[in-house]
Amino acid sequence: MVAAEQVALARVVARRKCARKVMTASGEMVNCGSRSFLTCPKCARVYRRDWQAILSDGVRGAGSGREVFVLLTLTAPSFGKVHRVPKAGRSVSRCACGRQHSERDRVLRGVPVSPGSYDYAAQAAFNRDMGQLWRFSQIALHRALPDRFEVAAVREWQARGVLHMHCLIRVEGMSMPRASLVSLIEQTCAGVVAPSPIDEGRSWRWGRQSDVQVVGLDGGSARKAIAYLGKILGYVVKDLGIEAVENRSAEATAHVEALHTAARDDMACTKECAGRSCGHRRHRSLGAGSHSVSRSKEWSVLRRKTLKEQRRVWAKEHLGDASCEGDRGVESMSFAEALAIHREAFLTGVYGSGGSVP
Ligand SMILES: [Zn+2]
Ligand SMILES: [Zn+2]
Ligand SMILES: [Zn+2]
Repeated sequence: MVAAEQVALARVVARRKCARKVMTASGEMVNCGSRSFLTCPKCARVYRRDWQAILSDGVRGAGSGREVFVLLTLTAPSFGKVHRVPKAGRSVSRCACGRQHSERDRVLRGVPVSPGSYDYAAQAAFNRDMGQLWRFSQIALHRALPDRFEVAAVREWQARGVLHMHCLIRVEGMSMPRASLVSLIEQTCAGVVAPSPIDEGRSWRWGRQSDVQVVGLDGGSARKAIAYLGKILGYVVKDLGIEAVENRSAEATAHVEALHTAARDDMACTKECAGRSCGHRRHRSLGAGSHSVSRSKEWSVLRRKTLKEQRRVWAKEHLGDASCEGDRGVESMSFAEALAIHREAFLTGVYGSGGSVP
């Protein structure tokens, strides 16, 4: 994309319109509905706000007063050692490369210590199959836990270019001590083995960095759960691979390139994949599918469909245009904010080379 288009897109964003309206078969112009901030910030924002409403509803609507919220993080397994670089002010143990890294080495964060032996193909396949591992984990948790529960989950990218999951579990009624609940969830998730639905003979487990926290029964627990949701929803709008290319060092760029190549050339997107000529989005997104947020059926009564309909009604009343979804409930984005997004997109190479920063 050239600089002039970036500026035009940023203006559209500042006026809170869909950047890429599409025409339906019946000739109606509708919003693109993109989940990517870099494709259409307006639609990505609507997506994020809708999910914020749905996920918060599942916390606030928990009315019996006997619910417990569990914050669960599930990480991907290892595909080879990566450099351990601490965030500013933190220290970590010696890295596998033999050095003691500091924030100054951040260009190495998430980069393999030995790229030659790193399993890029397996990592792309994990990104593709993580949904299956999560499905198996939910079944195992339903069998293991004595109490009914509902769950909402958000997928996030780690610096090494692999997905991991942040989940919020609402346990309805609590029939065991907190510590027992934590260890039961930990053990259950650690024991899950999910066969790949696509690659014969491959199976998946979670990595060892998983984390479980119970946030309790008091009123403060709902606030903590909502704060956690706000944080995890921040990840929803982060675009694919952005984290991985946040630093533009030769090492990080080579790592992302190798991952892209593996997802494009060494990974079947489905059992019917046509190979190199296949145009499935998974080949362009390090293996990942498009859904970044999910929730169980009974998490909340609120649906995206309901929110969309409310926006249409609002748009018809206030703008006289039912084909436009309007902006009900969507906070405005300042021009400066829109420009910042596009500056980031430019600097991280999302637009390709050429042009200047707007
Ligand atoms: Zn759009
Ligand atoms: Zn290192
Ligand atoms: Zn394919």
